[in-house]
Amino acid sequence: MGRVIGIDLGTTYSCVSYLEGGKPVVIPNLEGLPTTPSVVSFTGAGERLVGTLALRQAVTNPTSTFFAVKRLIGQKFISAQVQEALPRLPYGLREAANGDVALVLGDQTLSPPEISAMVLGYLKTCAESFFGEPVTQAVITVPAHFNDAQRQATKDAATICGLDVLRVINEPTAAGLAYGLDARKNGLIAVYDLGGGTFDITILEASDGVFNVLATNGDSYLGGEDFDHRILEWLVTDFRAETGIDLSKDKLALQRLKEAAERAKRELSFTAETEINLPFIVSDQNRSSHIRKTLSRPVFEAMTADLVERTVPHIEKALAEARLTPDRIDHVILVGGQTRMPLVKGQVARFFGRAPEEKIDPDQTVAMGAAIQSGILDGQVRDLVLLLDVTPFALGIETESDGYEMIIEKNMTIPTRKVKAFTTVEHNQRRVRLHVLQGEGFLASMNKSLAVFELVGIEPAPAGVPQIDVTFEINADGLVQVSAKDKETGLSQKIEVRPSSGLSTAEVEALKRKQSGPGAAARTANG
Ligand code: AMP
Repeated sequence: MGRVIGIDLGTTYSCVSYLEGGKPVVIPNLEGLPTTPSVVSFTGAGERLVGTLALRQAVTNPTSTFFAVKRLIGQKFISAQVQEALPRLPYGLREAANGDVALVLGDQTLSPPEISAMVLGYLKTCAESFFGEPVTQAVITVPAHFNDAQRQATKDAATICGLDVLRVINEPTAAGLAYGLDARKNGLIAVYDLGGGTFDITILEASDGVFNVLATNGDSYLGGEDFDHRILEWLVTDFRAETGIDLSKDKLALQRLKEAAERAKRELSFTAETEINLPFIVSDQNRSSHIRKTLSRPVFEAMTADLVERTVPHIEKALAEARLTPDRIDHVILVGGQTRMPLVKGQVARFFGRAPEEKIDPDQTVAMGAAIQSGILDGQVRDLVLLLDVTPFALGIETESDGYEMIIEKNMTIPTRKVKAFTTVEHNQRRVRLHVLQGEGFLASMNKSLAVFELVGIEPAPAGVPQIDVTFEINADGLVQVSAKDKETGLSQKIEVRPSSGLSTAEVEALKRKQSGPGAAARTANG
């Protein structure tokens, strides 16, 4: 087995780590930094930039610089989340033929996994340059709340850039693993993970090397970007009132505002007030206008308090599902850059009645946990480490009149499987259709459609005679698999699968060839 890397593919920043002598070590990027912006930019000269250089292009090249793609991965174009993101993004989005979201680059479109593959490919290059040898295997993390489509799309991104994914693990679980193993802590751990685009809360129990996830909850559409947006809206509204000019229509100005908002937000984690200075935000022959505003921490906290508040019901649900109360938690750890905000820290401390652990680095812990997981898989980490994670969603099938029959419940330890017998309802029926969904809604239409599985080639027989055992499985990556067997003959029943979203295997392979083919090289800050 060659080197295995652990990758945290973040909404805003990504990080890669490996295991050295049983300890996780972060691999610096080509600029020597521990984290890399998850940004890809295409220049007018046909160059592809990744990371810091791409981020620098964001202001001058807003329509061809793709950031926060993690919020779009595995999503339908018509989903509420994409529709909400659409007016905020300087780059264009379109509906792909299968209804997925596609990113617009000039007259072409790109899929979110394609862009993520470019970020992952850059991290792979960093690792290869660090080790001086090729790297082909990785453990990759995803938000605990990612559904099947989002997980599969992330895995596809890794495949496209030539990485074989040994395991997909949940970000807060990875963080819990890194923290628990490092500090040799036993007890109940709450991981509060507020990153650039997602929020997760995970409750796990560490006991002499066994990490048992008890419950997980969260919101895939709540993160640091929403905090930035509040500052941006404040600046736009204020500027409109003062000058009558609407900056929200100006892509270049919006990108500058976004960057300034994020910078101000970061500063306010450490200072009481900050100045936002944007000279020549509007500048043409007739006029030039500037923004110069002071934002204080209390004002910023007031404009974002509801966002922090939105995390609380998720913590309450996760605790209830784990049958625990806040006072039972022994360690609270914070993950994700947005947890640096004092209001977030304060809210978490108040909720649990204890201060969160300060020792861990919220930007690097997840990648380190992924590296530990790689060590568990290849035997480098011994000490009886066993990771028992759970599925964040229930799995079920559609029944008559939009009904929903749950087959695997939420928070079941994964891998998990359930077998259910199916038969025909008509004489000589040759096919049985199963619409598999993810979610807890009591109606099928309230849940996320994963795929239609059709059992085909059933031998002609009177209604009710064929007995087909269908196995529904959620594997260790949190991905859904369905298989079927004829009970009578013991033979595998043929299944035709029509996934509701995502790239086909052939598309992934074609993109892999495209990204590794001639002219595919990206330029990074080191050339
Ligand atoms: P992650 O997905 O973990 O990389 O989190 C990135 C998010 O954390 C982004 O929205 C950043 O703006 C935010 N962030 C990073 N540093 C700080 C800070 N000092 N204060 C507040 N938010 C921060």
